[in-house]
Amino acid sequence: MCGIIGVTQTIDNSTGKIVFDALTRLEYRGYDSVGVAIINPTGELQIEKDKGPILEVGKKLEFEKLKGRTAIGHSRWATHGPPNKINAHPHISQNRRVAVVHNGIIENFLELKKDLISLGYAFKSDTDTEVIPQLIEYYLDQGKSIVEAIRTFTDTIKGTFAIVLVTVDEPEKIYAFRRDNPLVLGIGKNENYCASDIPAFLPYTNQVLILKDNELAILEPKNYKILNLTTGSEIKRTPKTITWTAEAAQKAGYPHFMLKEIHQQPQVLKTQLSTQMEVVEEIADVVLAADKVFSVAAGTAYYASLTLFHTIPSLTKKVVIPVISAEWDTVSSLVDDKSVVFAVSQSGETLDTIKGIKDAKSKGAKIISVVNVIDSSLTRYGDHVLYIHTGPEIGVAATKTYTGLALALWRIAYAVAEKREDIDSTYLSKFDKSLHALPEAIEHVIRKYEVKAKEISKWMTQKQSAFYLGRGVSFATACEGALKMKEIAYVHAEAYPAGESKHGPIALIEKDFPVIFTIPNDKNRKKMMGSVQEMKARGARTIGVIEEGDEEFQGVLDEYFEIPKGFSQFLSSILYQIPQQLLAYYTSTLKGFDPDKPRNLSKSVTVE
Ligand code: GLU
Repeated sequence: MCGIIGVTQTIDNSTGKIVFDALTRLEYRGYDSVGVAIINPTGELQIEKDKGPILEVGKKLEFEKLKGRTAIGHSRWATHGPPNKINAHPHISQNRRVAVVHNGIIENFLELKKDLISLGYAFKSDTDTEVIPQLIEYYLDQGKSIVEAIRTFTDTIKGTFAIVLVTVDEPEKIYAFRRDNPLVLGIGKNENYCASDIPAFLPYTNQVLILKDNELAILEPKNYKILNLTTGSEIKRTPKTITWTAEAAQKAGYPHFMLKEIHQQPQVLKTQLSTQMEVVEEIADVVLAADKVFSVAAGTAYYASLTLFHTIPSLTKKVVIPVISAEWDTVSSLVDDKSVVFAVSQSGETLDTIKGIKDAKSKGAKIISVVNVIDSSLTRYGDHVLYIHTGPEIGVAATKTYTGLALALWRIAYAVAEKREDIDSTYLSKFDKSLHALPEAIEHVIRKYEVKAKEISKWMTQKQSAFYLGRGVSFATACEGALKMKEIAYVHAEAYPAGESKHGPIALIEKDFPVIFTIPNDKNRKKMMGSVQEMKARGARTIGVIEEGDEEFQGVLDEYFEIPKGFSQFLSSILYQIPQQLLAYYTSTLKGFDPDKPRNLSKSVTVE
């Protein structure tokens, strides 16, 4: 996820250095290119930007020597257009009147771009961002004030954004506004700041204001004001004093990146849901036209890929074969030019997955890459690429990228269902409703159960082993839950299809053996009662993730987490995972481990 910094101050010889240093403090967010726009002493906009590491680009382009009082800086995490110099931010308007940096996605940029081109505007980059300065300049040329131009702009565009804008018309001012992407303000004495995150300006001020959705901040060196973008009225808010260290601030006050990333899920999934509808549709067509569907993935991505196995066959009567990347050879001979192969990977660089995909491609199969990292190797092999847009994940154990990958695949299942003429409209509307209600439901589950998960984790710290049981798509949930527990808390956690557990594993059950059940109210629910009873009868301590109000299971389980209704048939593999993430996180931290850096693991596995 990109990093933004803006500074306006009364002196002009340290601005470039402040922006440079702030960008290095935002480096943890992940990026591919960097840039600065400064209003120089002659009142012109000077832009310096390039692809590459912040230190390298900043030194090469001498950010520290840039002179001026007002500047904005950006580290880009490309979403539209490859990482290169032209696509790097800041972007500038045709007549060099306005420059912006942007975090997020302008969904309707293509139609806006088309309109602007027909009005004579020339575009240089492939980004969605470039429409922002162009459109604002167009409104300014029509005689609107900057505030009016920004308000008209935010009415016109669809998508998510944190935008910071400077204009030569008002060289001492910075305009910062947001919808869904973060922006914070730093209030100084003779200088004011805005940034994606507090560490950017923490060495200069600890007086912080959080900008909320649909708000516009106007910063000058000695003043600032906040307006509501819809009404235009002023909002009064007093800054808070931040007492965190810069390191804690990178984690937004959370003790670990993993916990921050668990909490980020509602926001990043919401972003994904607002993007790439047309890509999802295209992929659904490809799936419908295929003879055979395969998926190739490893680790968490494999568990996310099981979503296809549990949705596509019932919607299309097609066989879906989910393959663990390292086992690709087993199915290789079945792949042909009527096959579709999904490559599912956070990093897009997993070597085992790349090998499988190369083989499938050589046999003429169509490749669909579902990945997080823009422009990664798997995107180059993909005939279609669906990004999950969860931003960089710093915790080694996947959380937001598991739910992000699973969501992308549920979206494809929905698009397939929509294209089938024989699918009941009530089914479709329930599916659609669940998709849109998901971010809020995740937020609700985290809010309601973080304390309880911590309580249960205290008990878990005494345990050497645990079983995770589920049926159908909930077996995938159980696998991912167990994997988290293994990876970061070093508990020997095993997942089984609940019906299989009696064929052997049950021999291990003794008093107080932890068994974690995933029990949505789907077609498998009744059978899960038998599994819980079997385990209970042998002394297991039973912990269930169940549907809200499921009294029957409440009466049987030792502990339970309730998930809002409406997600049992759809998206359960996402929502029922949330308490399991929290359980693994707290078991790990209560045992004194660092969940961000589990032993023996790395974020992207680029060896066979
Ligand atoms: N969508 C914009 C781009 O691709 C912004 C990306 C970001 O948030 O860094 O340039």
